[in-house]
Amino acid sequence: MIRFEKVVKTYARNPRPALDGIDVEIPAGQFAYLVGASGSGKSTVIRLLLREDRPTSGRIVVAGRDLTRIKRREVPRLRRDLGVVFQDFRLLPDKTVAENVAYVLHVLGAGRDTVREQVPATLEVVGLSSLARRFPHELSGGEQQRVAIARALVKKPRLLLADEPTGNLDPGTSLEIVRLLSQINEAGTTVLMATHDDSIVNEIRRRVIELSNGRIVRDEQDGAYEAPRPEVAERAGGGSGAAVAAASGAAAWQGHPPTTRVPAAAP
Ligand code: ADP
Repeated sequence: MIRFEKVVKTYARNPRPALDGIDVEIPAGQFAYLVGASGSGKSTVIRLLLREDRPTSGRIVVAGRDLTRIKRREVPRLRRDLGVVFQDFRLLPDKTVAENVAYVLHVLGAGRDTVREQVPATLEVVGLSSLARRFPHELSGGEQQRVAIARALVKKPRLLLADEPTGNLDPGTSLEIVRLLSQINEAGTTVLMATHDDSIVNEIRRRVIELSNGRIVRDEQDGAYEAPRPEVAERAGGGSGAAVAAASGAAAWQGHPPTTRVPAAAP
């Protein structure tokens, strides 16, 4: 579904590349977290996938389309296949929940029957049927993010991109939102979620791709934000149970053992 081949992205007036040779493939149907500290390159990956920007070199293929080759007029077609959700929801404040979702279909030129059918069906998926007539300011943060997810989903995208979707939410609500994204993935949509929310990544285990300074430093199925679970470390000869338990409770960012890290290339 997504393939990055030797992708480098350097911004003007910033000599250090934001992405420095990214090679990664995310197959259709997968749910992957893209994690890493602020400035590690997560948003750049999302921007390149949305074709808001082009890589400096390398190739990006999304759903069979080479984004480095498609023409400007083909970009709307690409974005039709992509749903996207942001940290700040980006809802239309003067439209109701249902109108926010319907608006996407209107822009795509859908007929009235499609709108009448798809909007309630999508609101049901995200659990908002009873709030269809509310305005965004009458909703909690979690509810607003559900509307944003409904808006992304209503065009039935093959790929859903989420850029820090829980960044403005409390921990309980964040978990509910990621559970919803997980259900959407189980129904067949590929999901890539950029996040630095370690509790979510550790609670809902999925593939974890970690960036640091524009490079992939870890790529694990069912990964965590912290050190590996004790049974994994023990199988690898990871020392006493107490020491392993202490290590797995270590601060998320520093906790990765050398065995899970890809060595940095020589400068
Ligand atoms: P993240 O989303 O992980 O916080 P970003 O992709 O936003 O990381 O940024 C990666 C690097 O690229 C950072 O060093 C950032 O300062 C730099 N960067 C991002 N956008 C621009 C830009 N428009 N111009 C110059 N540098 C940028």
